[in-house]
Amino acid sequence: MTTTSLHPCPHFIGGEWIHSKDAGYPVYNPSTGGVIAESPLGGASEVHAAVEAAAAAFPSWRDTPPVERARLFFRYRHLVEENFDRICSCIALEHGKTLAEARGSLYRGLENIEYACGIPSLLFGDTLENIARNVDCETMLQPLGVSVGITPFNFPAMVPLWMFPLAVACGNTFVLKPSEKVPLTAVLLVELLEKAGLPTGVLNVVHGGRECVDALLAHPKVRTISFVGSSPVARHIYETGTRNGKRVQANGGAKNYIVVMPDADVQRSVEALSTAAFGCAGERCMAGSTALTVGKASDVILPHLVEAARSIKVGRTDTPISQPDMGPLITGAHRDRVLGLVSSGEREGAVVACDGRGVRVADAPGGFFMGATVLDHVRDSMAVAREEIFGPVLNVMRMEDLDQAIELANRSAYGNGAAIFTSSGGAAREFKHRVKAGMVGINVGVPATMAMFPFSGWDASFFGDLHIQGREAVQFYTQQKVVTSRWFGGRVDDVWKK
Ligand code: NAD
Repeated sequence: MTTTSLHPCPHFIGGEWIHSKDAGYPVYNPSTGGVIAESPLGGASEVHAAVEAAAAAFPSWRDTPPVERARLFFRYRHLVEENFDRICSCIALEHGKTLAEARGSLYRGLENIEYACGIPSLLFGDTLENIARNVDCETMLQPLGVSVGITPFNFPAMVPLWMFPLAVACGNTFVLKPSEKVPLTAVLLVELLEKAGLPTGVLNVVHGGRECVDALLAHPKVRTISFVGSSPVARHIYETGTRNGKRVQANGGAKNYIVVMPDADVQRSVEALSTAAFGCAGERCMAGSTALTVGKASDVILPHLVEAARSIKVGRTDTPISQPDMGPLITGAHRDRVLGLVSSGEREGAVVACDGRGVRVADAPGGFFMGATVLDHVRDSMAVAREEIFGPVLNVMRMEDLDQAIELANRSAYGNGAAIFTSSGGAAREFKHRVKAGMVGINVGVPATMAMFPFSGWDASFFGDLHIQGREAVQFYTQQKVVTSRWFGGRVDDVWKK
């Protein structure tokens, strides 16, 4: 591994940027396969220092008026906007999203900062006067203390921004553990928050993998844990965190179904399916990776889908000069896993209607590329139908009617997103009522929610009670106090009576 010209990737603890001298995880430029940085292997001592710094900063941050906390995020919003292109280039470099995809995802993140700017109104409590004679009752939302955020590789800016702006605006202090595959964007985001006037210790970053996460789960001063990643790890975080007395919200993986009815607008459905399946190279928890085509919709739509998939230009995303439609996958190992799933589907009887397995990019032979792939006649028993693929692969499963499509979608262990394309209000209503998923699209292929609504996964897509984003997240990052007061009137020395 070359050590020249690697991007720095320091921890940020108690207001200090700390560079590790030890070897860490390689961070790749997936467009070329080259190593661009090393993500340090933070362990128990870094976690301890970061949590103690956050705990020490809490009393003063908790007592900072919400309007002042909001001002930090107004300044931060401005800085993120000013550095928008720089952040997007970093996402494209270390993750492989196209610049257009990086921009889209950063806008989603920016909306979360904007939501946090409204914190004074979000922290309102309730009051009821005279619950008994001369007795009043009020609720107050107070922060809990040290919050932790553990994030996945696939949205290097958006997912951290789902977490720390709101947690910190609510008055908590924070420790962020970014994905070891994409740590550079997180460092950049935190540098900008420091520039915006972040007080010492209010936000800290520790890099690392499992050892680092286990130390965070065990630390007695950690009060809340927000996690986004794969379902097995989400379950582990939820079970261990709650066992250790912490409040946990853990988003997991997904398998999202898009039903196409015979009366759907063909062109719009094809465009939406293509974006849902191949956008971000399929590396999204809201990827629409399975089309459930009903009746004659199958034969009508398939040739258009194949044509759309074939037209997707794959290429390197690390140079702004000529941007492709789709970039590489995150690592060579992940790309090979996705290729293996496609081949297993073929062996089990699926028809490869568009084959992206042989796609190469001439000016980047070492990049982790594959092309958009469409598998037709996929059956529920196949591995490719059951497992989260997390790559640019669209399964087509042919259904007789809407009932069969809903029943099939509802057999999934996951429950993140589901969508229907139709021109029938009745079919749409039936679908939204019966489908087992927490985010539903009607003629919308990727119904990922915006900052003011909860990111509402169900079943194996979410472990916890209060989701990320929106009012549920405000509840997650605060604890409610109910105050009952009585003031004794009618005394002779009551000053207000004189
Ligand atoms: P991952 O589960 O491998 O890693 C997520 C985080 O957990 C990383 O920070 C990683 O360092 C840490 N981690 C990994 N293994 C661990 C272990 N054994 N113990 C403790 N910590 C561990 O996920 P990923 O590959 O980075 O991201 C892709 C997954 O995230 C997909 O399954 C995708 O669907 C999911 N995801 C879900 C949502 C959602 O909102 N539901 C959003 C984005 C991504």
